[in-house]
Amino acid sequence: MDPFEDTLQRLREAFREGRTRSAEFRAAQLKGLDRFLREHKQQLQEALLQDLRKSAFEAELSELSISHAEINLALRNLRAWMKDEKVPRNLATQLDSAFVRKEPFGVVLIIAPWNYPLNLILVPLVGAIAAGNCVMLKPSEVSKNTEKILVEMLPRYLDRSCFAVVLGGPEETGQLLEHKFDYIFFTGSTRVGKIVMAAAAQHLTPVTLELGGKNPCYVDDDCDPQTVANRVALFRYFNAGQTCVAPDYVLCSPAMQERLVPALQAAITRFYGEDPRASPDLGRIISDKHFQRLRGLLGCGRVAVGGQSEESDRYIAPTVLVDVQETEPVMQEEIFGPILPIVTVSSLDEAVDFINRREKPLALYAFSRRSQGPAAWAATTASSPSTPSPTTAPACCADPGWRRCTPSATRPTRRAA
Ligand code: NAD
Repeated sequence: MDPFEDTLQRLREAFREGRTRSAEFRAAQLKGLDRFLREHKQQLQEALLQDLRKSAFEAELSELSISHAEINLALRNLRAWMKDEKVPRNLATQLDSAFVRKEPFGVVLIIAPWNYPLNLILVPLVGAIAAGNCVMLKPSEVSKNTEKILVEMLPRYLDRSCFAVVLGGPEETGQLLEHKFDYIFFTGSTRVGKIVMAAAAQHLTPVTLELGGKNPCYVDDDCDPQTVANRVALFRYFNAGQTCVAPDYVLCSPAMQERLVPALQAAITRFYGEDPRASPDLGRIISDKHFQRLRGLLGCGRVAVGGQSEESDRYIAPTVLVDVQETEPVMQEEIFGPILPIVTVSSLDEAVDFINRREKPLALYAFSRRSQGPAAWAATTASSPSTPSPTTAPACCADPGWRRCTPSATRPTRRAA
């Protein structure tokens, strides 16, 4: 017995009947989503606290306000996005009216991870609704408290004939992927991304894959170490480091490392106090499996800051590792935890070469006072550089991974009429 067939059938029929087509319907669903967030704000905050020990501040900044902003963006632009676009005619189409009509794909599957379990399911959902699709949502089974609210409460705010939330881990998701969808929006690991893409290929279903990566952070010798340390620590230890676009490792000269380590220690103490374990602002590792993996990485290089861990509450202290070799495990995989290795290089050229020898990162951070910095990084590396100015914090909006979370992939398709 296939647990998803009936639900899928319902969504397909609703799409064929054209229920999701009108601007009024789309706007009503978006407003429903907004009401869901407002009316369950406290429950959602509690769920995020239970899942990741996410503080109310982090929940607001990285989950709720981002989702609200996406809804507002879609509501403001819905009619403009839906309009046909005129295109110039050539000799062959001189007698025709030529325009681009934006069509919804049909039934979209959205598969989400656990690290921002609300944001990373709702933001793609907003795009899919705005584009006039029916949607099946598959939240992460790992962030189980948030998953529970999504499955129990969210459907009450949406048209049930067009939108459904389904539950499942790897096995059930594998079963789900055997079905034909019209679009799949997946956020998660590279390993599972390959499984999703292979399943989608069976049906020639288009996909968006929001995957992981190892994001370098280059620090030039001319920077103020405390300013750099404040910004790197903020984003590296936010959500206990479980952020796909967080700086994953620092590249700098041995002289800068000497100045950066005490500055990072000062930033960590300023953000989380003398005993970070007692801080209400520091999150926890999502699961025992990830905790054990991260604890193993603490043995790489030499601990310069932090290094403590406590299994009973899946606590890993904000940590800085030095004397790290590029062959060590911490430099071989995405860290996805509150650990920051520093690798020393002797020049900017060596740093660029180090980055270019690896897989393309999702984000690249470069701290430099040289005015030509951003252009030079853009020209020599294969990722979008985020080069925070001396007065602003690193912005994820400069990162391609984050931008790709916007609804573009599930916005209307462009087809020549
Ligand atoms: P994951 O790949 O383990 O799981 C993601 C989703 O896939 C979950 O819903 C899960 O149930 C499902 N899944 C797991 N195993 C599966 C299988 N064998 N077959 C089918 N489905 C399966 O990822 P995760 O651990 O939840 O999230 C962490 C990863 O996500 C990190 O690599 C991180 O970098 C990445 N990520 C990327 C972005 C981005 O925007 N690029 C954002 C957040 C997280």
